[in-house]
Amino acid sequence: MSDQPPMAPRNNGAPDFKPLLHPAMARNYGRWKDHQILGRGVYRHIAENGEELFTVRAGSPRMLSVHKVRRICDIADKYCEGHLRFTTRNNIEFLLTNPDDVEPLIREIEDILEMPVGGTGHSISNILHTQGWLHCNLPGTDASGSVKAIMDTLIEEFRATDLPQRLKISASCCQINCGAHADIAVILQHHHPPKLDHERIRSCELPKVVTICPVAAIRPARHDGRDTVEVVEEKCMYCGACHGQCAGLEIRDAETDTLAIWVGGKSANTRKGPSFMRLATFGLPNNPPRWPEVSGAVRRVVDAWKDGAREYERVGEWIERVGWKHFFEATGFEFTKYHIDNYRFARTTFNTSSQVRR
Ligand code: SF4
Ligand code: SF4
Repeated sequence: MSDQPPMAPRNNGAPDFKPLLHPAMARNYGRWKDHQILGRGVYRHIAENGEELFTVRAGSPRMLSVHKVRRICDIADKYCEGHLRFTTRNNIEFLLTNPDDVEPLIREIEDILEMPVGGTGHSISNILHTQGWLHCNLPGTDASGSVKAIMDTLIEEFRATDLPQRLKISASCCQINCGAHADIAVILQHHHPPKLDHERIRSCELPKVVTICPVAAIRPARHDGRDTVEVVEEKCMYCGACHGQCAGLEIRDAETDTLAIWVGGKSANTRKGPSFMRLATFGLPNNPPRWPEVSGAVRRVVDAWKDGAREYERVGEWIERVGWKHFFEATGFEFTKYHIDNYRFARTTFNTSSQVRR
């Protein structure tokens, strides 16, 4: 027997996921032979021993009330031995082993929870979006709200199984872009440097906000006999990183902030490997509560891609094949000088892909 006292329970980091797995998944962990998409929103995984596990995928608005989560859990208790999971794009996946329960489960998801079933295979998955007005201290727009409006216009593509390839959309409410890149991304853009409120800037010896600026546009300064900072406006590229560090540098502006659409991003290693997004259009009004101009622009990209892409081509692969000239003709977006990326240090400072680090 050891004299060591028992270790304290682990209380940081990600918890061990294995006790949380569906029992069929735990039994067959690492021993899956095949999987198939049976139809809209339904997968079947087959284990080496022949056991089957079905997955029914539903779209969620991500922001869920406790009441709604309880109703979702009640349905998981009824059909799924209490097991479900959320994907990174906020789809809810219900896991079950009885094939006879698949159709009743779909009916309850659609009729009782009032959530759509779909998002698998060659369809549009749920939109990955950021916290918006509800949780973050930085947003210039509400990603959650604009995503709801966009998905309302794309609900048939969420339920579809016949798009050229899967299509992933993300939305970010500031240029820090924690929504990440995607086939189509909606990102807020600021249009002027941060406005300084010297009363709120409590300068320390080396203000953190000075070091956060990626182009060294912020420097310590004196104002009315007090330590503060100043912004070299010619250097500023309006990224907004400083605003996250210091409330005294306010960059959000209801009058001038707009939204832009980026296209062609991909994280997967399939075919040509990961790719960065490129600017498609910009200057779309930040127009709550339904952001019709943003939904309309996303719709134009989706329609042009559906019309022109070959089977299995993601948006970026389609554009690469047909060329950007054709992309602008097919979508009707105006091509401007701002579409030309002339940042001359890009080659040596950016990760060119997840496969190549420089
Ligand atoms: S995108 Fe920006 S504003 Fe939106 S949640 Fe992320 S950090 Fe906050
Ligand atoms: S907005 Fe970005 S570039 Fe401009 S001062 Fe702030 S951190 Fe620097």
